[in-house]
Amino acid sequence: MSANTPPSVPNPAAPVPAANIPAARAGAVLTIDLNAITANYHSLTDRLGGVKPSAVVKADAYGLGAGPVAITLANAGCRVFFVAHLEEGIRLRHALNEAGDSNFVHAEIHILGGLMPDSHEALDSARLIPVLGSLDDIHSWKQYCERLNRPLPCDIHADTGMARLGLPPGELDKLESEPSRLEGLNVHFVLSHLARADEPDHAKNAEQLEAFQHVRQILPHGRASLANSSGIFLGSDYHFDLARPGAALYGIAPVPGQANPMAQVIRLQGKIAQLRSVDTPQTVGYGSTHRVEGPARIATVAVGYADGYLRSLSNKGTGYIGNIPVPVVGRVSMDLITLDVSDVPEHLCTVGTMIDLIGPNNPVDQLADEAGTIGYEILTSLGHRYHRVYTGGQKAGAQA
Ligand SMILES: *Cc1c(COP(=O)(O)O)cnc(C)c1O
Repeated sequence: MSANTPPSVPNPAAPVPAANIPAARAGAVLTIDLNAITANYHSLTDRLGGVKPSAVVKADAYGLGAGPVAITLANAGCRVFFVAHLEEGIRLRHALNEAGDSNFVHAEIHILGGLMPDSHEALDSARLIPVLGSLDDIHSWKQYCERLNRPLPCDIHADTGMARLGLPPGELDKLESEPSRLEGLNVHFVLSHLARADEPDHAKNAEQLEAFQHVRQILPHGRASLANSSGIFLGSDYHFDLARPGAALYGIAPVPGQANPMAQVIRLQGKIAQLRSVDTPQTVGYGSTHRVEGPARIATVAVGYADGYLRSLSNKGTGYIGNIPVPVVGRVSMDLITLDVSDVPEHLCTVGTMIDLIGPNNPVDQLADEAGTIGYEILTSLGHRYHRVYTGGQKAGAQA
């Protein structure tokens, strides 16, 4: 840093408040239907026999905005939330406190990612509940509780077949033979996670169910939780005391290949920035991967892979103008895509016309298929250059 650096240079580490991009200036509009999220919450509750599930709102509620989404779900009666990281939990606690409903203050926020070093005090002061995933985690949280002489809440994650987070069978056996390891802890949930719940016929589901039932014999503490969104659809054996849906709340099909029972939550509309009439044969975009023999019309939209319109959608994605499909032609670039709109009558397709990139004709899962990925990745990749509109919920209209 040089001596004449102006003192007004902003601190790059300071959080920049997220500003909503004005509609007129944005290349695309992302509409998030909070009423659809509420409807999905109620329909999962019905499927669970009236038992309200928790809501997984990690990764900014799968890209849809943890604040407005969690408040919507809290209004629908949800009182148990899961996030991945401590910082997500702190922000969520703040959003729920600020919502102005005293019932939300006591909502439980669980941190799936386990116990990070030096996070104990921050967890405690924001009343966050760590999901302990190893004997080391358990030991560390127990020491902290003993120091404060308070049995703070925690969950215990047992690994039943992911080899990812959670206590493996050997560590579970240790807990069984040395129960003092859990003394002084206030265990809220014993949980595990399914590896293949989106494949209802796969034998792994029953194996994990059996393993989890065994876990509950060793660890009858607190309440039990196994099912994610897809797990809810495996039947009541998988429901236990609490389900942890994320994706289904946000409109992703819980059982791939079957009709989607969830309401669609998002719509992404890209605006035509330029229209090009092609009369002589030429190629479109980087790498000249698409050739137009002409005559044709090519529309350029200011949405690219930097906005989560994945590059794998090059020459694969489909937009819609009304009910008319308009294929993505050429490569998706960082800020732009090009679509062949030759089939759309000219009066329906001018500069400024909106193209549904995700919409009633091309829901999230369909775009994911075209991109060779899953709806989860499409949602969590949605960028921050859209004009965002929240409809429904208690606070309708555009939000920052
Ligand atoms: C992300 C996550 C969920 C939610 O899964 P969906 O498939 O989105 O419903 C539930 N439990 C755990 C442990 C998770 O990591």
